[in-house]
Amino acid sequence: MAATLPNVSRPGAYDVERVRRDFPILAREVGGKPLVYLDNAASAQRPLAVLRAVEHYETHSHANVHRGVHALSQAATEAFEGARERVRRFLNARSTKEIIFVRGTTEAINLVAQSYARPRVGPGDEILITALEHHANIVPWQMLREQTGCTLKVAPINRRGELIWDEFERLLSPRTRLVAVAHVSNALGTILPVERIVEAAHARGVPVLLDGAQAVPHIAVDVRALGCDFYAFSGHKLYGPTGIGVLYGREELLAEMPPWQGGGDMILTVSFEHTTYNDLPWKFEAGTPHISGAVGLAAAMDYVEGLGLDAIAAHEHALLELATKELSRIDGLEIIGTAERKAAVVSFTMRDIHPHDIGTILDSEGVAVRSGHHCAMPVMEFFGIPATARASFGCYNTPQDVERLVAALHKAREVFG
Ligand code: PMP
Repeated sequence: MAATLPNVSRPGAYDVERVRRDFPILAREVGGKPLVYLDNAASAQRPLAVLRAVEHYETHSHANVHRGVHALSQAATEAFEGARERVRRFLNARSTKEIIFVRGTTEAINLVAQSYARPRVGPGDEILITALEHHANIVPWQMLREQTGCTLKVAPINRRGELIWDEFERLLSPRTRLVAVAHVSNALGTILPVERIVEAAHARGVPVLLDGAQAVPHIAVDVRALGCDFYAFSGHKLYGPTGIGVLYGREELLAEMPPWQGGGDMILTVSFEHTTYNDLPWKFEAGTPHISGAVGLAAAMDYVEGLGLDAIAAHEHALLELATKELSRIDGLEIIGTAERKAAVVSFTMRDIHPHDIGTILDSEGVAVRSGHHCAMPVMEFFGIPATARASFGCYNTPQDVERLVAALHKAREVFG
């Protein structure tokens, strides 16, 4: 197998061994074996730069933001608002008014459902999603359907896990009020044709929300080039902390939207008779935010841009190709999700072995993969399977990780015959 390893240690090329040294957790063992972490689509590990940025903030600068005149409050506010500017640059948004800090992708999509869509839709109006969405981009629209009587339309996928374009276009109707789709599928790895989706929707005057949870760690995202109206992602899949994420929204839309949670920080004045709301972006940030999370997220953005998102993507793509080739050779193994354009996710089933058993055997070999429905139960239903095992690659994975995965899968095959 050594001959098939991509040459990633060439001088001047992506130096994965150096990258690995930035992630202390990768040095640990699991069950006496060196850890192989292949569950990046669920949550990525954090580099020292992120751990240190959070520690530095907590050690030297913490206080509540936007409220005090004292030095620490000013330092915390500077750190928090500085992080917002870092996110603006990362996404190439026009203004920091367009960057709302939230808990993660899930909260961002719920915010759009409740604050953008709910006041605008009624019976007969349609929200258009696709058949490969994560539950976070399904359930908020079902809740909206219960609240407003609107209809949820689902554009189908083919057996490779690709959006069927003609069907999608056909479902874009005069009653479509919003298109909400994944940029990259977490269960299948499919990269959706988001530019084309935005173009087709906008041609009919329909705004588009992109769920970028799986895209931001692998693809340089430019919201102005994409032209999308909303973009949602989570920090923890981008090598940043949990509990912090971002909703990007075009200022014109955000300005018209009512706040979605009420409380401190999102107001200018409050009396029992009348409250005036704060300006963007704070109108959408009720209560004390996850300040150190924002600081850590900004550090994560510095980190990935330091490595270069294109370099990360090329590295991961080589691993995806290697894994696809090697896994396809294993007796009874079927890869689920074979789209032409894919991010570094390999979902698979094995004849006569339940995905949970695959996960358990791999864990005993020190290899961490995810097994289950990946919060995309309709995708599993479409393929007629209860679950898959899923290996997902990040910036620190190596060809040797693929080799360990393959060896552990052979072991599973031996155990189950
Ligand atoms: N959308 C997609 C495509 C995802 O992969 C995930 C996380 N698995 C989410 C949404 C939800 O992200 P979070 O749990 O961080 O809110």
